[in-house]
Amino acid sequence: MTLTHPNTTHQSRNERPHRVLVIGGGVVGITSAIGLREAGFDVTVVAEHYENITSNVAGALWEWPPAVCGQHGDPRSLSSSKHWCMVSYDKFKELHSTYGEGECGVYLQDVFFYFRFSVDKCCFNLEKMNELKDKVDGFARGMHIVPEGVDPQFVENNIKDCYKHMAPMVDTDKYMPWLQQQARDKGCILLQERIDSHVLLEEDTLRKRYKADAIVVSPGLGAIDIVGDTHMYPLRGALVWVKQPNGAARAAHCISHEEGSSSEQDIVFIVPRGKDHVVLGGLAQPNQWDRDLSLDDPIVDQMYKGCLDLLPALRPLELDPKENVRTGLYPFTSTNVLLERIPSTNVVLNYGHGGAGVTLSWGCAEKVVSLVQEMFHDTPHVDNISQKLDASRPTTFLLHDMLPFRAQIEKIRFMKHNLVLISSRRGVAKVPAHEFIHFDLIRVVDSYALKPLVATVSEILSSCALRPDKCRIATNDEYSILLSGQVRDALGIPGAGSHCMLPFFDKNATKKAIGQNGPVRIPNYVVFSPEKFRSDPDGYVREVMDTVGHKLFIKPVVGAGSEKTWRLDGSVQLLQWCEANACSDSIFEIDERIAGELFNTSVVRVDGRSSLFFAMRHNRPNDEYLQGHQLGNIIVPPTDALYAKLEEFSEAVLYQLRDYCEDYGVFNIDFFLESGTAQPVLMEVAARAAGGAVGKVIEECSGVALEETSLLMQMGHKTPLHKFKSTEMRRYAAYSIHPPKAGVVKRMQIPKLDSTISSVSWRAVPGKRLSAPTSMRDIALVLVISNTDMKSLARDFERINSEEYVIVE
Ligand SMILES: Cc1cc2nc3c(=O)[nH]c(=O)nc-3n(C[C@H](O)[C@H](O)[C@H](O)COP(=O)(O)OP(=O)(O)OC[C@H]3O[C@@H](n4cnc5c(N)ncnc54)[C@H](O)[C@@H]3O)c2cc1C
Repeated sequence: MTLTHPNTTHQSRNERPHRVLVIGGGVVGITSAIGLREAGFDVTVVAEHYENITSNVAGALWEWPPAVCGQHGDPRSLSSSKHWCMVSYDKFKELHSTYGEGECGVYLQDVFFYFRFSVDKCCFNLEKMNELKDKVDGFARGMHIVPEGVDPQFVENNIKDCYKHMAPMVDTDKYMPWLQQQARDKGCILLQERIDSHVLLEEDTLRKRYKADAIVVSPGLGAIDIVGDTHMYPLRGALVWVKQPNGAARAAHCISHEEGSSSEQDIVFIVPRGKDHVVLGGLAQPNQWDRDLSLDDPIVDQMYKGCLDLLPALRPLELDPKENVRTGLYPFTSTNVLLERIPSTNVVLNYGHGGAGVTLSWGCAEKVVSLVQEMFHDTPHVDNISQKLDASRPTTFLLHDMLPFRAQIEKIRFMKHNLVLISSRRGVAKVPAHEFIHFDLIRVVDSYALKPLVATVSEILSSCALRPDKCRIATNDEYSILLSGQVRDALGIPGAGSHCMLPFFDKNATKKAIGQNGPVRIPNYVVFSPEKFRSDPDGYVREVMDTVGHKLFIKPVVGAGSEKTWRLDGSVQLLQWCEANACSDSIFEIDERIAGELFNTSVVRVDGRSSLFFAMRHNRPNDEYLQGHQLGNIIVPPTDALYAKLEEFSEAVLYQLRDYCEDYGVFNIDFFLESGTAQPVLMEVAARAAGGAVGKVIEECSGVALEETSLLMQMGHKTPLHKFKSTEMRRYAAYSIHPPKAGVVKRMQIPKLDSTISSVSWRAVPGKRLSAPTSMRDIALVLVISNTDMKSLARDFERINSEEYVIVE
């Protein structure tokens, strides 16, 4: 079998074949490159390394998914994987018969799977066995098939069931160079370079540089860096290498991790490697980047001994003196093997294969070929949008531009709306690719401004005969808040118009709407006037200081995330600042600088009243982040004496803004409790779910899904969305975000804490050159922690906000 699809690249005779750039020289990238080349494309592969990568470490046993080590549990990925693995199964058999194991390194041998309980007693194991037994060669089941050499005593005490079948096993040290040579022989160009740009944001530049019409992204864990996939993380695995001069193991033997087992290391993974070695594994440690494990590490020793216990014949075998432990990082995503074309681009993602990259490689390559072929189909692709949207249903247009996209769209699909994502290019780069399938239609608007947005939405309305009064506009993106109101105004779509959105977008409008003499205190401020400054610099500076005071905080009137913010002291600094910024495009406000404790609160309004309230305490003000300090938020529990005061103030703010607030929605309010007086002073208020990891913390503490609730309420839904209801699942939680430090990332690690680390989101990879942050969107690491004990949580919170986990040199 080859992956050739004759005449399907749809080029006329005189045209050059389309060229595809494949990023990544591991098993996934090179196999895709071969598939594309066989289908008639010109192919350039670019990889930072072709050796000493995860693909070389792999135990490289073909397995029916999910694999023994580094399981992928996502149902969608899993069902596709079952097709992809079978394509590979057949391909490995073909390679074996065409080239022989000595040349290509593909071996066909038995694999035995042992179970601590009868397979019939566990739905998962039973289902897996039933799925694979008719598809693989040589299937047999029963304790009678346990082969000689396996310790009968171990079996008697631990094993209740067993099955076996023939499986391809790949000697990666032979296979990877052979595969690369195959790619070259077929005409692929292999370059050794590192891509440092974001592939989606720099698609055109990359395509120009490599003269490519399309890009396939297969960088393994490198996807954290070059497509900003924050759902990816490493799962550290290790294999002990022993020599087997007499072929002691001619079959593989595996025991999976037992659900509910207290042992971190109960996997047994014994796989013959070529003719001369056996590899013994398999760890699966999440978020561990260091690859310096050795037999001195108790966990590796335990893993090694677990394998010897099952197969005592391995005991006398000598450890490979050259390299007795190989450690590698499974490229894992919390959601999926990502194999998607990014809408409105010529970029196909193919990464996140976890513990099954070898197993899935040929099947995924086949899918890559079909996705790339679709891009260049002869007849221009007719995007028949009227077939994608059901005119009898309401339609929600979800706007997205700048901020990370955190909502899980699947969770709002129960509304039975047509869902249309309208995004800028930088916005679509922030939407996790596994979310794309949940939208009915995706439109990328290159110039993301009011006119093109209105034109795009109205084109969809007319093509699909949608009634504006049955549509909604929703967004959780600070930079799209005002636009959402303006688009509603322009097209007569129900919901808050631009008049209502303005105070939630423009800080000057907020302050005007609140009023300086009302019950809510706002800082003294002026909007910077370059004209007044130019006409009388000294006089202007004096006037500002008379109004605002000597301690100043300057920020843009529009924008989020403490970008372009300054703390200034006294007239000399203010004069210098005015001179430097008199020609800026931004409008700035100069505020009295408040000293005190900073809080962030979230309010869910139902029927015009606050229905849910959450408060969080900042460990330090946002702008310190830009100076390189970690920033964190910790929940303020309702039992805290301050809680009632924070709630009261948030209510007062929304009351002052009552003419602008929708009756249903999520609001986010930042304010100080001033040092000395403990009087609340308003900083900002937004009509959206809070940014950062606030949503995750609130979800841990209460089960309320804030991001999704915010979207749902803009769609007309009237009750908050709970991800869990049982109070037993509630915990206290906090998060910490770590700014990048200028330099090359040397080490990354997460701490061992009393609290549970509920989520880790890496934004850097080892070897990456980082720059110091210029905005709150530049992040190296986000940690969310939780605990049933508030005191322990507070201790760990302090710790994670004072230690570095991304070490640069
Ligand atoms: C201990 C262990 C045991 C395993 N056992 C099995 C098994 O039995 N069966 C199985 O199927 N799988 C197994 N795996 C998993 C398998 O190894 C992986 O799924 C697979 O290697 C992933 O391949 P990849 O090509 O996506 O990534 P990689 O092999 O990591 O290759 C990534 C490539 O992208 C390049 N790259 C990254 N970033 C950039 C950039 N910015 N610019 C240019 N190039 C870049 C890298 O240099 C490299 O060439 C195992 C893994 C481990 C660690």
